[in-house]
Amino acid sequence: MDKSQGRTSTAAGEAALPPVVTKSGHRALDQSEPLIFEQGVPGRIGVDVAPAPKVASKLGAFARKGEVGLPCLSEPQVVRHFTRLSQKNYGIDSGLFPLGSCTMKHNPRLNEKMARLPGFADIHPLQPVKTVQGALELIDRLAHWLKTLTGMPAVAMSPAAGAHGELCGMVAIWSAIAAKGESATRKRVLVPESAHGTNPATAALLGYQVDPIPATADGRVDLAAFEKKLGPDVAAIMLTNPNTCGLFERDIRKIADLIHKAGGYFYCDGANYNAIAGRVRPADLGVDAMHINLHKTFSTPHGGGGPGSGPVVLSEALAAYAPLPYVVHGKDGFRLVETKEGAAQPFGRLKAFNGQMGMFVRAMAYMLSHGADGIRQASEDAVLNANYVQARLKDVMTPAFGGTCMHEALFDDRFLEGTGVSTLDFAKAMIDEGYHPMTMYFPLVVHGAMLVEPTESESRESLDTFIDTLRHLAAETKKPGAADFFHAAPRLAPRRRLDETRAARAPVLRWKPPATKQAAE
Ligand SMILES: *Cc1c(COP(=O)(O)O)cnc(C)c1O
Repeated sequence: MDKSQGRTSTAAGEAALPPVVTKSGHRALDQSEPLIFEQGVPGRIGVDVAPAPKVASKLGAFARKGEVGLPCLSEPQVVRHFTRLSQKNYGIDSGLFPLGSCTMKHNPRLNEKMARLPGFADIHPLQPVKTVQGALELIDRLAHWLKTLTGMPAVAMSPAAGAHGELCGMVAIWSAIAAKGESATRKRVLVPESAHGTNPATAALLGYQVDPIPATADGRVDLAAFEKKLGPDVAAIMLTNPNTCGLFERDIRKIADLIHKAGGYFYCDGANYNAIAGRVRPADLGVDAMHINLHKTFSTPHGGGGPGSGPVVLSEALAAYAPLPYVVHGKDGFRLVETKEGAAQPFGRLKAFNGQMGMFVRAMAYMLSHGADGIRQASEDAVLNANYVQARLKDVMTPAFGGTCMHEALFDDRFLEGTGVSTLDFAKAMIDEGYHPMTMYFPLVVHGAMLVEPTESESRESLDTFIDTLRHLAAETKKPGAADFFHAAPRLAPRRRLDETRAARAPVLRWKPPATKQAAE
């Protein structure tokens, strides 16, 4: 099969024509979609409702003075609007998602089916517990399996995302330090330079001084530098393993022993747990607290814009400080503990209610349908796929570090040197080729970083097509005129280069009606 031709339109003399700009804003069958408010016409209605009876308002000063301001559309307009929007969502169901440090992986349909069961989907957290025994049992069983997989004695289920889990674990550490009467002295948290931004942010939020640990030339924590930073004022180290360079921290056991000897705690960022689940028990590494991104490791659709879920496993030293509520099983079945009981020293609540039920169901369905051997294999395949990508690209792109990687392959921009093409340009050209770009410029310790995480669920064929495309683009960067070609990408996307800085600094979050009808036209 000759793939080198690619897909071209063959109209004679096409090269001489200007770039395609359509009158409608549509690109072939990809429809441009204005905001629903922009499409509405005052007075248009999609349903026939009887006029509301006149009633005396009891709202007094709170009565609405103007229109509600809802968009007015016909039923087909509404259906098309939301259908088109749904088609714009590039996700794991549309194609390969190489975004590193995100693990948008296989999301089995079985999970979705389970999460939609009325007994899980249609219940309310304020229902009497005797009517939600099954849901509580599921939370309890999931907790059991998370503890079993990690080897940890306790788990807090309620955190709503990874970052929220970090907060949970660090507040538990803060509480343990307070209980020892060391709050005034332990003020520093050590965070490797390659850490995800949420790690230093979490430590800073709790009033800790963030002290960065440099990385070695092979992308791991500099053990000597770490030892020098230890002292009686250190509260904890926040370490990701495998780290954000996609590498296993070889000295992790030594790091754990040293921080414990110094009286501090070991927070492990477990966002990359999908590389080692079923193979490594974080408890054996000396971890005191670790969040598990259910939406990364146990299949729930991170990329689909759904909620996250970040349960935190805790060591014996921290278990007592776990937040409320938690589920226990007694002679009357399952119940929720919502206030301090026994020897527990809960630091309080992290959020309303009990956690993300739908995510718990998906994670549980994923675990049960995979089994212990399946979870282990998913981890192994994630690592295999990343190494396959790295091995097949290492002669044309530049891996940031030597040797094999874990679940993600990290490249730097040395292969672009002298071409006038940047990591961003390269990523934009990928969009024209139909690929969502990989994670760029992260981790910060690698120049022009490109972090590719294929996950375990990609087939050999889909990986090969992706790799062949990157090989092609890498070769294109070496050709004369390459800089112009890459700077102009993406050409085929409905939107070209956006002013991302302005979008971040001056986001327009609210639609305002145009002053006059004419202004709208
Ligand atoms: C995703 C991620 C987080 C944060 O998780 P969220 O669920 O997005 O809050 C933290 N650390 C690392 C390494 C991550 O990849």
